[in-house]
Amino acid sequence: MEDLYQFDQEYRDHISTVDARGKRIWVFPKKPKGKFHTLRIIVAIILLFLLFIGPFIKIDGHPFFLLNIIDRRFIIFGIPFWPQDFHLFVLALISLVLFIVLFTVIYGRVWCGWACPQTIFMEMVFRKIEYWIEGDANRQRKLDKMPLNGEKIFKRGLKQLIFFIIALIISHLVMAYIIGVDQVKEIVTQSPMNHLAGFAGLMFNTIIFYFVFANLREQVCIALCPYGRLQGVFVGQNTIAVMYDWLRGEPRGRIRKNKKEQDTEKGDCIDCKMCVHVCPTGIDIRNGTQLECINCTACMDACDEVMTKIKRPKGLIRLASYESIKEGVKNLFTTRVIGYSAILIFLVALQVYLLTTREPVETTVVRVPGMLYQEQENNRISNLYNIQFVNKTFEEITLDVRLKDYTNGEIKRVGGEPLVVPSNEFVEGVFFIELPKEVINKTKTNLVIEVLVGNETIDEVKTNFLGPVVRNIE
Ligand code: SF4
Ligand code: SF4
Repeated sequence: MEDLYQFDQEYRDHISTVDARGKRIWVFPKKPKGKFHTLRIIVAIILLFLLFIGPFIKIDGHPFFLLNIIDRRFIIFGIPFWPQDFHLFVLALISLVLFIVLFTVIYGRVWCGWACPQTIFMEMVFRKIEYWIEGDANRQRKLDKMPLNGEKIFKRGLKQLIFFIIALIISHLVMAYIIGVDQVKEIVTQSPMNHLAGFAGLMFNTIIFYFVFANLREQVCIALCPYGRLQGVFVGQNTIAVMYDWLRGEPRGRIRKNKKEQDTEKGDCIDCKMCVHVCPTGIDIRNGTQLECINCTACMDACDEVMTKIKRPKGLIRLASYESIKEGVKNLFTTRVIGYSAILIFLVALQVYLLTTREPVETTVVRVPGMLYQEQENNRISNLYNIQFVNKTFEEITLDVRLKDYTNGEIKRVGGEPLVVPSNEFVEGVFFIELPKEVINKTKTNLVIEVLVGNETIDEVKTNFLGPVVRNIE
């Protein structure tokens, strides 16, 4: 058996969870156990903990995370973002896409099996409750086939009730990320009539989450998730993924009774199908890499247990690339993988640099449209400008403005009071710039305005100044 693709490819013509008549085949995965599953539980607990405390973390009374699309208020890792930071958002988005592509090309669907909220909630919360109430896969199948009786009504009813409550909690959590935990508290503690839109949003989300986890389940990863659908493009022969070592495993065959050792002419796979029984997406990984595989590693644990029992080396199903198995290479961290990983680290570092060095104040200066210059006393010319300061910090800032390069010019603010910009707010104003006529030698003179906090220049803005038409007299 030289090449994996010599296997019968017929399984690729349909998805494993749909039968020949197009009817859904419900997956009853066997309870997973083993070292990878224990590791996944630890990762899931940490991620769930972070996810749930996220909206409650506040720094100086401000949320650590807020993704308020409705009011266009965004706070990420305690840093407030404004619509004016759109360029950063676009850059972050491009980096993210690049990161996802590179990451998937190297490491496959690690994200799906280990960090995706859909998988974590499904496998580590909803599925665990299902095992607790209905038992392992065989007992679940039995219950499913049972006619409607007291036991079935009680178990199914209890399960669905708990599922709905958890969907309700997730819905509140998502809302807390969007509108902030204080607003969610208000919606929960006051009459729904006072917050009709918020209440409707919470209920709508709850129904969606309940439907996803109680019914759609693995179909989200197989058919709905765009990232999952793109796997066919990203994954190549060098991608690290959960792989069956067909060179070692084939030809597969059962162990004969009272014989613990495999026949020498057979491979290590005893065709026990434990890897298939534990798979939450209902596939047989021995067929090769498939779109449905979320790299959850449950089949690796199941097969390792079997290998231990039959006294064969573990790792018949393991994290490997197609090429590494074909070529018999053990080291997965090739020069290519290290090179790509270095690019990934660079992308993350670049984002951190861009976000942390962002200017605290954004200044916009626009000459009042339709206005020409004004002649002033003392042989001076003035232009009228609109100015806007956006304070992107959580501190109140008192600003000052001055002209760079034109010490004999002057900025005169209308109103004259100090320029105080409250935290995470913006102020707008109007001001004049006055220049002596003798320094104006063009119709449009370029100017730079310095924005200062105390004596420190925190921003520089370019604008221009209209003056009288200059005529050369011959
Ligand atoms: S669990 Fe291992 S031995 Fe059993 S069928 Fe799967 S690959 Fe073969
Ligand atoms: S094939 Fe293995 S890793 Fe892939 S989804 Fe199934 S159990 Fe998880």
